Amino acid sequence: MGICPVVWVAASALLFFAYRLQRAISPNSSEISQSKLTMVQLGTESGLQVKQKGTKSLFGGMNIYAYHSEGYLGEAVKVQISPTLRSLSLLGLSVTEERQFKLKAKAMFSLLGKESPKALIQIPPSKKYASLELAMMLALLLAKDQLLEVLCPDILVLGTLNLDGSIAGMPTLLGAREVASENGCSLLIAPETPHTYTQDGLEIVGCSDIALALHQCRRFILYHEGEQTKPVAKVQRSPLVHPFSGIIGSEKAKKALALSAAGTLNILFYGPPGGGKTLLLNTLEKLLPPLSDNEREEIARIRGEMPKTRPIMEILPHMGEKELYKGGESFLHLAHRGVLIVDELTNQKERTLKTISFFLEKQSFGSYPVSFTLASAMNGCPCGNMGREDQLCICSERQRERHWNKVGSALLDRFDICLRVLPENLMTVPLSQEDPNLLESIAEVWQKQQQRNEQTYLKLLPLLSTSLQGRNLSMRSCLSVCKMATIIADFKKCDVVTKEDIIEALSYKSYGIDRHWR
Ligand SMILES: [Zn+2]
Repeated sequence: MGICPVVWVAASALLFFAYRLQRAISPNSSEISQSKLTMVQLGTESGLQVKQKGTKSLFGGMNIYAYHSEGYLGEAVKVQISPTLRSLSLLGLSVTEERQFKLKAKAMFSLLGKESPKALIQIPPSKKYASLELAMMLALLLAKDQLLEVLCPDILVLGTLNLDGSIAGMPTLLGAREVASENGCSLLIAPETPHTYTQDGLEIVGCSDIALALHQCRRFILYHEGEQTKPVAKVQRSPLVHPFSGIIGSEKAKKALALSAAGTLNILFYGPPGGGKTLLLNTLEKLLPPLSDNEREEIARIRGEMPKTRPIMEILPHMGEKELYKGGESFLHLAHRGVLIVDELTNQKERTLKTISFFLEKQSFGSYPVSFTLASAMNGCPCGNMGREDQLCICSERQRERHWNKVGSALLDRFDICLRVLPENLMTVPLSQEDPNLLESIAEVWQKQQQRNEQTYLKLLPLLSTSLQGRNLSMRSCLSVCKMATIIADFKKCDVVTKEDIIEALSYKSYGIDRHWR
């Protein structure tokens, strides 16, 4: 069957013209996609032009995200979709959910007068299915019309899909606006909400049913064809309250926590019960700097999923060796690039402490890298009263010695910061103003620290030796004091480390021969 080339070109040109005209007249017409489909399938010059200009690859032009919230905070979950020749397949859903989605998809597609979809959809497992269903259905419908190929900014979808095609959801946008900006989305589809544009260029459209949502997505995609997705705004979500909110006094301990977060320094608080050691320790989580791309990648390779925040793992006193190494895997390597909290250090099993010490020394487990910040707390003596003004410590020197020996000098030496925390007298302690930019400062200092190496700290040793005043520190401790001094200088935005910085750094190391219990 031969077609005259002239007729072929003329037909293609006519089709292209008709396509452009149709778009110009009615950009919302559902016929558009049909024309476009024909164009691409024909593979004519003009058709390729459309494809080159507006699309990247098959199903690779843009992304549909579902807004998923657990508790107060929400996140964007990407719906991954690829074309198949066979029927609809779903990955990441339970059997019931899969059946439910297939039934709904059949109903929706026949409702909209379309043939059953052929595609593979993948969603991350363990996400709540109901909040992803609408986005999955929209992705499927848009893919059917080859609109996901179009290069255009990404879309975030909020709401749940009913069997009759209506969209339900909360009466508020929850945190979806922020999540849309954080993920570079330019359109937010949400149930019943007024049509608005935010200052940062996000279009918010309220849709009562799936037909309307599909129509709005189509209009958006064709209007923004050829535009790139906005660069992702990598902003650390500022907490609603200051990390130190509710902690009165304990200024030195707060500064120690900031140093630990910015410099990934191991930290130990010791002192009588009631001094707020545990409370302070748990604040560290809120101070940690955001993960870098490399760190995110490393954690994803260990855990099998992209992390949102730095990992926090806690070892409880009753945990045995079995739990530390479950199924050949170590509990500790999950703390990589995060924090390992070990409260009541002296109540931990000896074996547990040895394991922690081993990991800190070796920095690896099998082929996995293991690097975490150790954050611990313990009483200063067996009775716990050491250091209290209103109570008497009844422990003998030997008992205290034995108490500290439980931790062992090797592990103790690993703590860059070792600070005594005493209960504050709430009647006399002055109310201090917390630094509102603390998190930004920590992130900045952390960045600077990434560029430093041991050579920087070695150069400070002569300055340290003039400040030791007879204190006997191990080489490791000396280097850690020098590192801390650079962090102290960084917080003051000073390029030069002074003797005062070294002396301040030494004040965060109050154990060893002195142990400060007298
Ligand atoms: Zn005591």
